[in-house]
Amino acid sequence: MIFDTHCHYNLSPLYENWQQHWQKAQKHGVTKSIIPGTNIETSRRAVEIAKQDKNLYAAIGIHPNEYDHISATDLPTTIYQNIASLSMMLDDKNVIGIGETGLDYYRLKEAERELAIHNQQEAFKMHVQLANEFKKILIIHARDRGGEKNKNNQAYFDILEIIQNDYQHKKPFILHCISGPKTYIEKMLELGAYIGIGGNITYLNANDLREIIKIVPEDRLLLETDAPYLPPQKFRGQTCEPWMISETAGYLRDKLNLTPATL
Ligand SMILES: [Zn+2]
Repeated sequence: MIFDTHCHYNLSPLYENWQQHWQKAQKHGVTKSIIPGTNIETSRRAVEIAKQDKNLYAAIGIHPNEYDHISATDLPTTIYQNIASLSMMLDDKNVIGIGETGLDYYRLKEAERELAIHNQQEAFKMHVQLANEFKKILIIHARDRGGEKNKNNQAYFDILEIIQNDYQHKKPFILHCISGPKTYIEKMLELGAYIGIGGNITYLNANDLREIIKIVPEDRLLLETDAPYLPPQKFRGQTCEPWMISETAGYLRDKLNLTPATL
């Protein structure tokens, strides 16, 4: 009964044997999955994979960190080319969403920060426009350093502003692998966000996250693996494989009273 709303069968080391991983996941109760792209090549792979099984869906997009080191002069051309490539893929009926896109300031160094933030925002706005134009759901990746200081949560509030101003809310949007301050999540819920919970909910130090999902209405919660990243606690240090979502589902059922049927 599990719908894995974010699983990278299109990325190494899953991609090389994606059929086997998909079969194993199905044996562990997974019935459907969305495969998000992270650049043009992995978006193409997502579309190719989704064509091969009606229970697999593709989302296409370019991860924000792909834009960190593009010069100010090259940015317009890059964005123009990205729009052209993504638009062509959007004709395929297996493509149900735009993503993953968003903002990620987590690793930015002070010297590169200004340019990278500008680039990421322009690219995110481009993705939002595509979602509007093609009437697709939007899958958002958000990451910043977090904690008490406002500056360390800037990515979240910049995303909030862009969604408020640019997204036409005709289709749902997903905050994949939720993180960020409570005020941001509250505001996003008001705007209609769906909240993706991954294996990191099982981490020993994830108390903040476990608190935050208590404010999310049950019909807005989604389950995801983000495989090959973020294995559940029991498998930390290993590649996250798609079947491991059954671990996360078990944890949510036992510790947080959220059944797979609800999710
Ligand atoms: Zn992802």
